[in-house]
Amino acid sequence: MRTVLILAFLLVSTPFFSQTEDEKQLKAIYDEALTNGKAYDWLNYLSNQIGGRLSGSVQAQQAVDYTKAQLDSLGLDKVWLQPVMVPKWVRGVPEFAYIENKPGLTTNVPICALGGSVATPSGGLKASVIEVKGIEDLEKLGRDKIAGKIVFYNRPMDPTMINTFSAYSGCVDQRYSGAAEAGKYGALGVIVRSMNLRLDDYPHTGSMGYGDTPVDKRIPAAAISTNGADLLSATIKLNPNAKFYFKQNCKQLEDVQSYNVIGEITGSEYPKEIMVVGGHLDSWDLGDGSHDDGAGCVQSMDVLRLLKETGYKPKRTLRVVLFMNEENGMRGGNKYAEVARNKGEDHIFALESDSGGFTPRGFSIDASEENLKQIQGWRDLFEPYLIHMFYEGGSGADIGPLKEEGMVLAGLRPDTQRYFDHHHAENDTFEHVNKRELELGAATMASLVYLIDKYGTVPVKKIKG
Ligand SMILES: [Zn+2]
Repeated sequence: MRTVLILAFLLVSTPFFSQTEDEKQLKAIYDEALTNGKAYDWLNYLSNQIGGRLSGSVQAQQAVDYTKAQLDSLGLDKVWLQPVMVPKWVRGVPEFAYIENKPGLTTNVPICALGGSVATPSGGLKASVIEVKGIEDLEKLGRDKIAGKIVFYNRPMDPTMINTFSAYSGCVDQRYSGAAEAGKYGALGVIVRSMNLRLDDYPHTGSMGYGDTPVDKRIPAAAISTNGADLLSATIKLNPNAKFYFKQNCKQLEDVQSYNVIGEITGSEYPKEIMVVGGHLDSWDLGDGSHDDGAGCVQSMDVLRLLKETGYKPKRTLRVVLFMNEENGMRGGNKYAEVARNKGEDHIFALESDSGGFTPRGFSIDASEENLKQIQGWRDLFEPYLIHMFYEGGSGADIGPLKEEGMVLAGLRPDTQRYFDHHHAENDTFEHVNKRELELGAATMASLVYLIDKYGTVPVKKIKG
């Protein structure tokens, strides 16, 4: 009799035999994502029926209409559009470039204008080239060696960095500020090695800015493919008299009306405590923006559906926000934060997915030590799904402006090895997104949202005074 009782006790109390409520909920979320996930179908439409969604474009507006209609169909408590004015930059006709070894002996190379760049003169721009490994080289060379030339920024991404985003950070200043800086030394234009770790023929665009450079002093900037960069570098070493020609007719137009797309499940117990999950709906124009950031948008949309379908009713208000204009202006993220502040809304948590739709590995977390510890304490729940990274770090560009003391910000962190093969290039397309990887990301996000909602965050200790 006694033995039987002990056995029965062991059966119900041993974790090996019983699943906790949290384990069951996470399993239900992952099962639903992998069997009935909607993210992949939504991404298919965004990518293949709409395509690249540069701010202010017809496609960006189509994406607003499409995602709003899809959110409407999910039976959320509220779906709305938040107006925001966005910049409109257009690429114009495809760019053209070649290396000229001597008059008549030329090799075409793939380039693309950097977002925000001015055009070249209408007949194009031809000049000799000076190669640098970064902005810091300009001062050493001085005006004498730079004036009248095209500055070629050729610092490659560091292949020894395991997190490729770190390698990106180590180079991207050339792309963003290269033209503004080279212009100060009298350069006529800049060519920047694409932010890509592999050697291929795709030029990668991305935003650039002129800072306070007067309009008439702005010089054109383009990215060159990594193969093109290697060829240009080798050519000018052998033949310092070689010239580079490029032509682009991109243009900055007036700002236009656009929108953030927002859907909400209103909290059942603490409706004033708001949790946000999101990505950015705009993309660059060369590819269809599947990884950057169609993936993050459809994953975020599916987070709300996954919780609904698994029967979980959030105690706190849960919003999906599809931000407009992350790539070349950040207007959507700034507008959302501005409206939230004006309304006195209390955001306790925000999670962004904007690192591609690859196999999720975990989260980077921007929070107080107590909150970081609480989240790290959930690691075992994620272990069956091979999610193991819970480290302190940045979250996402769009949710950054929301940051306030006591708030928890997080970014989904997928595997990064292939991301920069596609980032901002013509090959950021739907066929490079794996359905299961995308769905695992959505489930991983929904799981963290569930745990944050259930256990809350550790609020800031208010100092009495
Ligand atoms: Zn992005």
